[in-house]
Amino acid sequence: ATMPPLLAAIANAGRHGVLVKSAVVMERLGTTTRVAFDKTGTLTRGVPRVAEIHPLPGYAEHDVLRLAAGAEHPSEHPLGAAVVRAARERGLSPTAADDFEARPGRGVTARVGDRLVEVGSPGALLPPGRTDGAFVDARTVADDLAGSGWTAVVVLVDDRPAGILGITDQLRADARDAVAAVTDLTGHQPVLLTGDNPYAARHLADQIGIDDVRAGLLPDGKVAAVRAYERAGDRVTVVGDGINDAPALAAAHTGIAMGGAGSDLTLQTADAVVVRDELTAVPAAMALSRRARRVVV
Ligand code: ADP
Ligand code: MG
Repeated sequence: ATMPPLLAAIANAGRHGVLVKSAVVMERLGTTTRVAFDKTGTLTRGVPRVAEIHPLPGYAEHDVLRLAAGAEHPSEHPLGAAVVRAARERGLSPTAADDFEARPGRGVTARVGDRLVEVGSPGALLPPGRTDGAFVDARTVADDLAGSGWTAVVVLVDDRPAGILGITDQLRADARDAVAAVTDLTGHQPVLLTGDNPYAARHLADQIGIDDVRAGLLPDGKVAAVRAYERAGDRVTVVGDGINDAPALAAAHTGIAMGGAGSDLTLQTADAVVVRDELTAVPAAMALSRRARRVVV
């Protein structure tokens, strides 16, 4: 017997580096009208680098990095891994942390020695209500880094800003091609959904041909954005890598996880997983679905 077209398409998608979990998903992929990409770890390589450390008064660069790396040590997030790498490169061995807690889309909290350390987004850690000096200084540095298209990460020690890290990440080599292919297939430009700041998001989107950017989104904000597109008649495929993307992957018509450094929860939640480190595997799988559907119907 010849293989049913959708099963043949699943096998073919596998050869292109996409693990599609069922025939239903294989069929659905090709009906996508809009693709939503996450930024960090999806459109970018997910190997960010701490390029600058800005300590605030009372702290030296290595204090900021050592405390931040201690808190990030158990983190699954690419930014956490970058902080730990930066500390190691400078010969600092992070102190073990207790009471570690990850807050998706915001950052992490942990006890490092006798200090309470929080590492995360300016939005989460520098609320507008805090107007004392260190908070104002921290906000100025963070805005400045964001303005250059960088990701700013704030380090709070015992509820006081201790420093700001400036983090850069590289665009995936095939991000632009993937955006073009997706636009071609769906008839719509993809959108960018990110928890990062709007400047870093815009900076990246401009390089790859994405106009529609939603930044500063918490996990629920990504879900709300997906639902809004679907209410307007779109069938949305979300592509993401982090725990912060899991709710949006579940809410979408189809959810695709980037396999590389993707979190376990995200890989489980997704309908399909990109197991090769190539973003163009996403439009390739959508095209295979289209072809199989033409044979089926
Ligand atoms: P994206 O949607 O682009 O993948 P996330 O939602 O994972 O980004 O993170 C959004 C923002 O929250 C980051 O830009 C960063 O400022 C902060 N953040 C999240 N997790 C961490 C972490 N482990 N360490 C430091 N900052 C973090
Ligand atoms: Mg991500």
